[in-house]
Amino acid sequence: MIEKVLIANRGEIALRILRACKELGIKTVAAHSTADRTLMHVRLADESVCIGPPPSLESYLNVPALISAMEITGADAVHPGYGFLSENANFAEQVERSGFIFIGPRPDTIRSMGDKVSAIEVMRKAGVPTVPGSNGPLTRETVHTVEIARRIGYPIMIKAAAGGGGRGMRVVHKEEELLKAVQVTQSEAHNYFGSDVVYMEKFLDNPRHVEIQVIGDGEGNAICLGDRDCSMQRRHQKVVEEAPAPGIPDAARAEIMQSCIKACEQLKYRGAGTLEFLYQDGNFYFIEMNTRVQVEHPVTERVTGIDIVKEQIRIASGLGLCAKQEEIKITGHAIECRINAEDPQTFMPSPGKVVLYHAPGGNGIRVDSHIYSGYTVPPHYDSLVAKLISHGPTREASIGRMQNALEEMVVDGIKTNIPLQSEIMGDPGFRKGGTNIHYLEALLRNKGVKSAP
Ligand code: ADP
Repeated sequence: MIEKVLIANRGEIALRILRACKELGIKTVAAHSTADRTLMHVRLADESVCIGPPPSLESYLNVPALISAMEITGADAVHPGYGFLSENANFAEQVERSGFIFIGPRPDTIRSMGDKVSAIEVMRKAGVPTVPGSNGPLTRETVHTVEIARRIGYPIMIKAAAGGGGRGMRVVHKEEELLKAVQVTQSEAHNYFGSDVVYMEKFLDNPRHVEIQVIGDGEGNAICLGDRDCSMQRRHQKVVEEAPAPGIPDAARAEIMQSCIKACEQLKYRGAGTLEFLYQDGNFYFIEMNTRVQVEHPVTERVTGIDIVKEQIRIASGLGLCAKQEEIKITGHAIECRINAEDPQTFMPSPGKVVLYHAPGGNGIRVDSHIYSGYTVPPHYDSLVAKLISHGPTREASIGRMQNALEEMVVDGIKTNIPLQSEIMGDPGFRKGGTNIHYLEALLRNKGVKSAP
């Protein structure tokens, strides 16, 4: 069993990992930047190490500093959380080469899923349904590019193989725009991701974002913890997530779960992972796989009763899967609202001092947050300050509990998107369920929010 985990992350997920380690009787080391000395998990960890100045490149993305921190503190494993180095195959490789345990998939799995072109290829071969597309990178042969687009049919999307965070994507409606769009996406991809490899996909006009949570033991066994709907997005960033995804027919759900399990077994997938799909007209289309814990993992934990972070640690310790597929039962409905330090009208980040913080509570409410009264949200990082998770026997009950929780929650001193989340919970379209990925932006446009694209 792992004895001491270095937490290579910050904020709510660092605290989440710390809690899981404590429950398992594992010692913790908080690796933090100089801007993060006052973080809650740094106070609660058995030890803490400063790994560099505030800019992420010099601290949370600083591989030599993290490896040294493991050596100095005698940690035997590292948990990367999400973001930062969580999907960096080179980091995972260096951790393993230095004799430590990386809590996550094998480096070669991370590498092949990190390249979207190879991820799609692997999944397609394993029988997972994908979006009709170029089945490989676009070449310099522009005639081929034009041919592929004609075969798929407009509108199409040009996407960066190394893309992430909603960047490096472009929709093309007409052939006249195609080659220019390819060029622009290539140079954007080169600038953002250091690789100009792009591919083409059919642009789906009315999709939902539905994803499947899997856990594999690395030996060829895998289980599926059901699905989540994350269609409520702004600029390709998730705002609300829920499990199970509303209105998916049982047969379609069973089929996609089965094909994800099969793919993970073939890959000998190790640890927790998420296969992301677009869902339209009753069909699933794979778009990418995330080889890490997701921000929205708590909704799955609420409906399955399985602690995903503990499972990651158990698998990294070689203890195998905690349950058989037939033991996984989905109970009730869970919703997560991401609470960001931002202006609810303009979406401008709003770092600063939290003068008063009051967390909501009550039956079926979970709050994952690192903030407290007197904590200062630094300007250097992501604006996520809390995740509110509600659970109830039905979707309606879960929404009701979330509405109460949003009303009860107090975060004074900084601006947050709590008013926007309340509005979403009361919105007739959301309450009906099954809205598509463009719904929130349309709602914001109708309200006259200027910064909405
Ligand atoms: P990233 O890794 O940047 O998050 P994804 O491939 O997961 O990129 O896509 C992010 C979002 O972009 C999706 O959730 C969806 O909203 C939109 N999107 C991606 N591919 C398509 C497509 N083929 N058709 C329509 N929308 C798409």
